Amino acid sequence: MDVTDTPLESVIREKIGQQDAVSVAEFMELALMHPDYGYYMQRDPFGAQGDFTTSPEISQIFGEMIGAWLATMWQMLGQQEMVLVELGPGRGTLLTDALRATRHVQGFHESLVIVLMEASPKMRRFQRATLAGLHPRITWQYSLDELPDMPMLFVANEFFDALPIRQYVKTQEGLQERMVTIDPQTNELQFTVRPMGVQLVKGGTSAADAESDGQITESSPAGRQVAADLAHHLKRRGGTGLIIDYGYTGESRGNTLQAVKGHGFWPVLKEPGQADVTAHVAFDDLAAAFAEGGAHASPVVHQGDFLNTIGGQVRLEALLQEGDAKQREDLYRGYERLVSPQQMGELFKVMGVRGEAQPMMPGLSNQS
Ligand code: SAH
Repeated sequence: MDVTDTPLESVIREKIGQQDAVSVAEFMELALMHPDYGYYMQRDPFGAQGDFTTSPEISQIFGEMIGAWLATMWQMLGQQEMVLVELGPGRGTLLTDALRATRHVQGFHESLVIVLMEASPKMRRFQRATLAGLHPRITWQYSLDELPDMPMLFVANEFFDALPIRQYVKTQEGLQERMVTIDPQTNELQFTVRPMGVQLVKGGTSAADAESDGQITESSPAGRQVAADLAHHLKRRGGTGLIIDYGYTGESRGNTLQAVKGHGFWPVLKEPGQADVTAHVAFDDLAAAFAEGGAHASPVVHQGDFLNTIGGQVRLEALLQEGDAKQREDLYRGYERLVSPQQMGELFKVMGVRGEAQPMMPGLSNQS
């Protein structure tokens, strides 16, 4: 063990020693969720003192509008008793704002059982503190295996980007997997490739081969599994939900693995456990996993368009009627940050999912 290693780096080095290399997915899983040293296990990553900030932490309007959306869908689905699932609730801010904004929707809160899917005991403590007294039926789960047998509402903001991805590299020797090993010269962690036993179809010209050399594609088996679990429940019991995240539609974007620390980018392999590691969400892949599970995914829209369409701007105007100049300035800037195309408005996307072909979903184009 190198004396300068973080404890998690030592764990990763040991694993590499045992199995020759760890996959990017294994690396992410350990970096984020190792029971003792994983990033989400030890710290509060949010806010000015933390490493990054998220939409609900930037503006109350975010959680309020999600709450309004959920309450509207609850009404459209016949005001049934439903389980509301939030995946990866962070500090619990989104749900707090959503519940506050909908407390006058008659019968809504009474109809809900709330389940928070959260892997980190530390995060659970934050959520418990934030949500104390806001709703009488909130429980925590590690997976979607044992959801109450009711129709579902769900929301996942910046959850899927934290799920481990695998990366594949096209090489002259065929498709290989991007892995993490130790550089024998420098003794640092490094990326490398390992054969997967899958050869690309022969017959391409050598120019085409050269062109494809080094190209990275990604998949998130963990993300697809969560989508399959949600789809299974939605198909059987009905319901609907929202996935909001940074990501892309269409073709692979190459390597999107990134680490963030202190509000700036950080080398992915440096001091694992001390920085947040994420990947952009491949929305088409997720939509396919939902479809395979028998659920219907909406077209993917920009976060800015979604929030404006469902009334975020109107809510902002109402809030701007009150408060002092500083509060009004903060509200204005916060909302601007969520919707402006130069900030989070276009990078962040929204996809709606539902169990049945109808009803339509506010803010999302209404096909399929
Ligand atoms: N939705 C929140 C937090 C996003 S950060 C917000 O918008 O502010 C990601 C959250 O997902 C954290 O709470 C983290 O602990 C949780 N998380 C990450 N991977 C998870 C997993 N595999 N299972 C359950 N929760 C997970």
